[in-house]
Amino acid sequence: MPQQSLNWFNHSLPNNDDLKELKYIKYALDQSAIVAITDKSGMIEYVNDKFVEISKYSREELIGKTHRVINSKFHPKEFFKDVWDTILDGNVWRGEIRNRAKDGSYYWVDTTITPVLDESGIPKKFIAIRSDITKRKELEQQKDDFIGIVSHEFKTPLTSLKGYVQFLEKRFLKQKEQVSAEYLSKMDNQITKLVSLIEDLLDVTRNELGELHYNLEVFDLNELVRDTIESLSLSESNHTLVRQGKIDNQLFGDRDRIGQVLTNFISNATKYSPEADRVIIEVAQKEKQAHVTVTDFGMGIASEEHEKIFQRFYRAKGSGIGYPGLGLGLYISAEIIRRHNGEIWVDSSEGKGSTFGFSLPVISQTEDI
Ligand code: ADP
Repeated sequence: MPQQSLNWFNHSLPNNDDLKELKYIKYALDQSAIVAITDKSGMIEYVNDKFVEISKYSREELIGKTHRVINSKFHPKEFFKDVWDTILDGNVWRGEIRNRAKDGSYYWVDTTITPVLDESGIPKKFIAIRSDITKRKELEQQKDDFIGIVSHEFKTPLTSLKGYVQFLEKRFLKQKEQVSAEYLSKMDNQITKLVSLIEDLLDVTRNELGELHYNLEVFDLNELVRDTIESLSLSESNHTLVRQGKIDNQLFGDRDRIGQVLTNFISNATKYSPEADRVIIEVAQKEKQAHVTVTDFGMGIASEEHEKIFQRFYRAKGSGIGYPGLGLGLYISAEIIRRHNGEIWVDSSEGKGSTFGFSLPVISQTEDI
């Protein structure tokens, strides 16, 4: 539900005590936040001292201009279109924005823009309240850079290690040294796990930098689900992967990335249900949406953690501990599904099991792509 905006005309006029209180609130707000008021076209009518201080422009240089003065060209046009669409609809917009100060330096602000509506519900002013989050953003950037460099450096030696292990395995097999070949095959599996952890770390940095590329094509979801299950069944000895249902339409998107989401769901389902013997993967079409769900009968997740598990590096208290993982798979999955205009969800109860699902729009048979 969009947040309600401020409609003066629904409020009775303030009396003297109210005005005093409002003055105190304004005083307190000015101490803690960067405040600006614009008219309905976005022209700045008021800025407080904190705005002047952080933007390094004088009040005179800001009044009468739009926020374009401090635009850092970091965010794409669609970003600001979304801001405008939201506030012109009379809703509150919240988000993080990078701005450029007069001296060319950049600063990040956590921003809330609230429209003030006139008697007919049309925005007549916008109040923007911001807080400086530059330090936090810089630290996040340093962490992402570090993860990116380390993961990249790890990948090259691991790939060559994998090559040697596979070469030796083949050699031992030829010489009929089964036991040694088996150890090498196990080693190979462990290296594959390491490479996939590193791929997850790299995907996170790519995603932050907007460099997670998507190769869009028309593809058959039924086939993708079948292929993914087949390849995961090869290394899965404890669970039967049961496939159910199918859809009639094709999908348009990045087949490999959608496969990555499904692989992640199934790997989690088997990992977090060590006592169970099956995982059910179901495909269904609901009007113009394809739904894929993966159900396990494992430890489940407490309801208060359902939203958090899609955050990066988050591992559930109950299910995450004692199992290998970085808490990145679901975060990346959510990003991939979001970029495909789809939805991702979890339905789970502790001790009973979980169903993870995503839905994606299908293309109609006649649709021109
Ligand atoms: P990872 O499994 O590497 O920790 P994910 O991002 O894939 O990372 O999952 C995040 C967390 O969600 C996991 O640490 C785990 O606590 C929980 N989780 C994910 N899938 C399941 C599942 N099928 N059953 C129980 N818990 C799960």
